[in-house]
Amino acid sequence: MVSLAAELTRLNKLEQIGEKDELHLSGDWLQTLVNQVSDHIYVKDRQFRIVKANLSVSNDLGYDEITEMLGKTDLELHGSEVGSSFLAVDKEIAETKLPKTDIEEFMILPDGRKKWFFSSKFPVLNKNGEFVGLVGISRDITARKKAETLQQGQNKILQDIATGRPLSDVLEALILTIEEQMDGVMGSVMLVDAAGTNLHAAAGPNLPKEFLEAADGIPIGPKVGSCGTAVYRRDSVFVDNIFEHELWEDVRDVMKPFPMQSCWSVPFFGRDKKVLGTFGLYTNEVRSPTEHEQKLAQEAARLASIAVERDLAESKIRYLANHDVLTGLPNRHEFKSRLEDKVFSSEETGEPLAVVFVDLDNFKFVNDSFGHAVGDRVLQIVAERILSLHDPAQDVIRFGGDEFVLIVWGDAAVKENLQRFMASLMEEITKTIQIGEFSFHVTCSLGAARYPQDAKDAAQLLRNADCAMFEAKSDGRNGYKIFDRQITDKSANRLTLLEDMRKGLENEEFFLEYQPQYDLLSGRIVGAEALVRWQHPSSGRLMPKDFICLAEESGMIVPLGRLVLNNACRQNKNWQDKGLSPITVGVNVSARQFHDKNLTSDVLTALDDTGLQAKFLELEVTESLLIQNADQAVQLMEEFRKIGLKLAIDDFGIGYSSLAALKRFPLTRLKIDQSFVEGLDSDESDRSIAKAIISLGRDLGLNVVAEGVETAKQQAYLAACQVETVQGFHFGRPMSAEKFGKLLAMTLTPLGRHFG
Ligand code: C2E
Ligand code: MG
Ligand code: MG
Repeated sequence: MVSLAAELTRLNKLEQIGEKDELHLSGDWLQTLVNQVSDHIYVKDRQFRIVKANLSVSNDLGYDEITEMLGKTDLELHGSEVGSSFLAVDKEIAETKLPKTDIEEFMILPDGRKKWFFSSKFPVLNKNGEFVGLVGISRDITARKKAETLQQGQNKILQDIATGRPLSDVLEALILTIEEQMDGVMGSVMLVDAAGTNLHAAAGPNLPKEFLEAADGIPIGPKVGSCGTAVYRRDSVFVDNIFEHELWEDVRDVMKPFPMQSCWSVPFFGRDKKVLGTFGLYTNEVRSPTEHEQKLAQEAARLASIAVERDLAESKIRYLANHDVLTGLPNRHEFKSRLEDKVFSSEETGEPLAVVFVDLDNFKFVNDSFGHAVGDRVLQIVAERILSLHDPAQDVIRFGGDEFVLIVWGDAAVKENLQRFMASLMEEITKTIQIGEFSFHVTCSLGAARYPQDAKDAAQLLRNADCAMFEAKSDGRNGYKIFDRQITDKSANRLTLLEDMRKGLENEEFFLEYQPQYDLLSGRIVGAEALVRWQHPSSGRLMPKDFICLAEESGMIVPLGRLVLNNACRQNKNWQDKGLSPITVGVNVSARQFHDKNLTSDVLTALDDTGLQAKFLELEVTESLLIQNADQAVQLMEEFRKIGLKLAIDDFGIGYSSLAALKRFPLTRLKIDQSFVEGLDSDESDRSIAKAIISLGRDLGLNVVAEGVETAKQQAYLAACQVETVQGFHFGRPMSAEKFGKLLAMTLTPLGRHFG
């Protein structure tokens, strides 16, 4: 090449020296030499017509003989667009009489190939210094140029992927980049659908639209054209002739209206080795891909896989941002906009709308007892149960840990229907849950609020449904409530109340009352149940129903329970120290306390500090607390029994524990819930349940206590059933320690007014 350039310069100089024939360059040796060169070498006259060219030029421009090109201008040879850009350069050289070197030129050859050249052109001047023509040499730099544009294209695509451009845009850009690299090809990207059975057309900017529509949804299989088969085989499929190849036999009809003849398809995979889709290339002629083209297709497939994986990851993130992974339900982010939309449309159409808040009772304990895996499963089961009852068109949202929210509209949101719906929802959720070896129930509390009756906007609607739920919880859990005005007043106070409680604990506003428990036979006081009260500085005396629930929710029950435990033990020891007959004091232990890891040490400290013997302290636990976490409960209770404590099951009969399950627990007493005692006066079924419980307790060797005895008739019935112990307003209301002390002193000689 150097020698050629030198030769040209020499020739140029010769010209300038001025030979007779202005453009006489020839000599066979020179033509032969020039023809050997792969660069374009050409000479043009002052009108920029070709007067000489080498074989390279004629070959590329599609002329059999060099002579056929002679006398033609660039406009004739290349068409007006490319031709005029050449002409502009030539004219500049003619005007300036200066060479133009290192120009990058682009041309589309008559056969459609796109080429880039790196050109240098030199003016030829006669002896008078006039421009008489020019010589040019152009090196084909297409391969380098393509590699460069490919590199740039790849970078751009990777950038687009990184900056989160929409997948369809990225895939189109990828296809265009690849198409630019090859001649006469049209690319496509097909993606595997969610079910993994079909392909859908994701991009194909230069393929006929009708073709993409026809190709959309093609199945994946062993013989369904190039793409469907490539995905099926997890390997490239190069079909050179669609109309003859057996892989296309069954799907050939689709191709009939289109000019494409060959189709090469390269599947691409995710990191988990799953096929994500396939990169396809079509040409309008029958041919196979060159090795280079195969490489390009593979590179395209690689980029497509990055783009698609990234997009999947993003949609997963988007999904995760709006959905709860565990249950697959939309989460509270998603909920907000949905509810707002609903409120908006309800406002427009007047369609009834309601929000139902579902909260599992003491779900924390399910987690603590059975472990998080079981807890997770419980949430899934609850979600399934809710969905099974809920109109699929309506919304169920996992709102938080153990909270679900439902948006209900139309007829379902009318009060009576809402009530019925909540009742069945509760029934469904509280059904037995069986997970592996564990079998238990979760209870829940439900609250609902309606729009526009109960709230003026979405936020208030939700808040009020939450309040109604909380109200249901305060009413002893496992219930449901529809919002009413009174509820807001209460719940608005919740936060204040919590703060007050904190202060109340410091200021010793909590105190105990004692309700006597009598031995039915002897009429002696054998025990007292300690019941907490709160002397609130502004609201006056508050009862457990006003604050226990909140104390439990907030965890405040733990310090409060400790206080109750200490006071009860101290008081009981105090009575004994006064010489009164020793009795057992019963202390209520809520679920939250029971699962507090410090309970044992709290109990021991209380006994230690007060000097009360363990046998004079009884812990009252509820049934639900036991079944929620049976194994742990048994273990803890065994510990207590070793210490010498008594253990009673409180409010027995309203929970779900099977009677037989009670055997597992080292109990000393069974306290029959007041609701059964209440029914003794009238209801035959309550009477038989009460009877069954009493005999069960006796069979298990437990002392049976009837709670809430209010009438003589109840007393008589209980006596007939041989219930040992009674507690209730009929015998004595909860009273101050002082009063209780006096009563205890009085009944040293038994036979109070009821036991005559
Ligand atoms: P509980 O353990 O079932 O306590 C018995 C409740 O029934 C007491 O209500 C008592 O006043 C009431 N009662 C007793 N006899 C009769 C009767 O003849 N008729 C009627 N209608 N009611 C009667 P109280 O004091 O309002 O306590 C309610 C609940 O609050 C208790 O139910 C207990 O679960 C809880 N509680 C009370 N004190 C504490 C405490 O210190 N810690 C914890 N964790 N819970 C407590
Ligand atoms: Mg109790
Ligand atoms: Mg009770």
